[in-house]
Amino acid sequence: MGLLNLVLLGPPGSGKSTQAEFAVKRLGLAHVDMGASLRKVAQEPSGFGKKLNEIINVRKELVPDSVIVRVLERIFRTIPSRQGLILDGAPRRSSQIAGVEKVFSETERVLMKVIYIRLPEEESVARIAIRYACLQCGKPFVLGKDGVDAHVPCMICGGALEQRKDDTPEGVRKRLEIFSQETLPVIDYFKSQGKLLEVDGTKDPEEIFQDILKGLHITMK
Ligand code: AMP
Repeated sequence: MGLLNLVLLGPPGSGKSTQAEFAVKRLGLAHVDMGASLRKVAQEPSGFGKKLNEIINVRKELVPDSVIVRVLERIFRTIPSRQGLILDGAPRRSSQIAGVEKVFSETERVLMKVIYIRLPEEESVARIAIRYACLQCGKPFVLGKDGVDAHVPCMICGGALEQRKDDTPEGVRKRLEIFSQETLPVIDYFKSQGKLLEVDGTKDPEEIFQDILKGLHITMK
């Protein structure tokens, strides 16, 4: 099999980061986290950072396609050519498809499969309401799970736990609306290309990963 180059799509709370983490640890892939990379730039005090903060955290909209392509080009070039990758969160609308495909081809990578983690809207809303992350190391936590409490420090680094700025009920509704209007057509496109691998996001994370491996015809020792 050639180098594994994957795209991962799904609504908020569908478990993209968890699956990407599995892919990093068990398949040795590099994780390209579009949302996290953009959120990092949005914290910068520069004019560009402020503009991204306004789009992501205030208006809760998608950032312009040209920014996506620029950021991706930069990240792809830092990944060794012999390492596969999992791109989490792009393309998120049809107008990004050509740009993202161009970044793959320019860096001599073949996009093998697009993994779509399916999740009902109510489940997405319920999961986001209890999703917290460490402000310091970024580790995600689920409130009420494994003794996690919003007032208890991060068990990895001791940092404070907080909800993402765009993880408000209104922010999730908006992102779900964007997902169904803008991202579902992208998923249809990859389906028509024979590249789609759809998995059930309501299952246990380990089971979902096994479904992904099966869909990719990978057997692990
Ligand atoms: P995420 O962490 O994937 O939920 O992404 C957080 C935010 O970053 C989104 O709500 C968008 O504002 C922005 N974002 C992430 N990926 C993209 C993309 N492919 N196109 C445009 N905006 C994006």
